[in-house]
Amino acid sequence: MSKTARGRAGSREKVDLLVVNADELVTLAKDSGRPRVGKDMRDLGIIRDGSLAIKDGRIIAVGKSAEVRRRFKAENVISANGKTVSPGFVDPHTHLFFSGSREDEFQMRVEGASYMEILHAGGGILKTVRETRKASVDRLADSGIRTLDSMLEHGTTTVEAKSGYGLTTKDELKLLEAAKRANQLHCVDVVSTFLGAHAVAPEFRGSSHDYVNLIIEEMIPRVAEKGLAEFCDVFCEKGVFSLDQSRRILTVGMKSGLRSKVHADEMSTLGGAELAADVGAVSAEHLLFSSADGIKAMAGKGVVAVLLPLAAFSLMLGRYADARLMIDCGVPVALGTDFNPSCMCESMQLSMAFACHFMKLTPAEALTAATINAAHAINRAAEVGSLEAGKKADVVVLDVPNHKFLGYHFGVNLVDKVIKNGRIVFDKEAVRGEFPRLKEEE
Ligand SMILES: [Zn+2]
Repeated sequence: MSKTARGRAGSREKVDLLVVNADELVTLAKDSGRPRVGKDMRDLGIIRDGSLAIKDGRIIAVGKSAEVRRRFKAENVISANGKTVSPGFVDPHTHLFFSGSREDEFQMRVEGASYMEILHAGGGILKTVRETRKASVDRLADSGIRTLDSMLEHGTTTVEAKSGYGLTTKDELKLLEAAKRANQLHCVDVVSTFLGAHAVAPEFRGSSHDYVNLIIEEMIPRVAEKGLAEFCDVFCEKGVFSLDQSRRILTVGMKSGLRSKVHADEMSTLGGAELAADVGAVSAEHLLFSSADGIKAMAGKGVVAVLLPLAAFSLMLGRYADARLMIDCGVPVALGTDFNPSCMCESMQLSMAFACHFMKLTPAEALTAATINAAHAINRAAEVGSLEAGKKADVVVLDVPNHKFLGYHFGVNLVDKVIKNGRIVFDKEAVRGEFPRLKEEE
């Protein structure tokens, strides 16, 4: 054996896990530290016949299979031959913790009632608030954990979760405590957002000003003091919280260390996109009715647009955000599920499919929006959202030969395996076992 060959064989580093021979290894790697905009949203950084080396929960190498296998060895090797390997999906907008369900309201919507009609009749958010106030931290955490299981098996490895079904100081803190507990107990990472301004609490009906004061004077200081949230969000909407009220809440939140997010222009053109740009929000979400000026203002400030086609679909609004205009203007676009009791869907794959079908994103743009740009929307891009050495080994193996199947093959789970923090946490074969292929003999 030549000296060089012996040196090479001897120096193959042992790692915990190798994922090898992916038809497409979608890295989304780019060291700009900024979300992808414009044409860059179509550049997935694909390595054909790509491999990943994983050690101590982190990615330590990404590259062509021949090169990675020359440098590393592992007892645990996953073959991704015929498959697509992607960063774990990041869901940047959910209302994960609540009690009860609203299937009756779904039927009312099918029969023609609008979201606002249901809300003003004491349904919608307010029904969930009544039930959530009765629930304990344990019960809320348990139900959130069941949802996280379902999200994980659909490929989501990091989730943002908003409070907003308590609407009293005690109950908002309880929801954020449930999020903290779920984050401790479940492998999916949960990032918390305080959304006390989700609706005007029923006790303050007709005096929203007093409720805003409660948020500002009592809720935000308590949330910040307990370190229970990273972001502060507001449902800025006609008949809910005005632009001025939203600005007050977000400003006080920022002074307390909570970065801003805005539920903006979901049902009317109120100027939520402009507000998000003006206060320097990390993201503005929904944006169905945003003005072109508002979209340009967001582009100028680098505010991430978190688009939620599943919510527009389930509310039967008959329209979707103008994602093409946003991408043309240079707004970084992200996708989420908006999982909540009126949009009961855990699947980022379906969000991507709807983004393609209804908002004309290409599959590549949708995948960028569901990974690295979503990570930027929740300030996690240094850790997740792309497959790069040093980042968390949060990886999805999809049972499709290329990424264009996302959106094309929809309504089923395309996930073959999920790796979270370097461990295989979901394996379709193990769950499914072997289906009998032959009818039993008589
Ligand atoms: Zn929402």
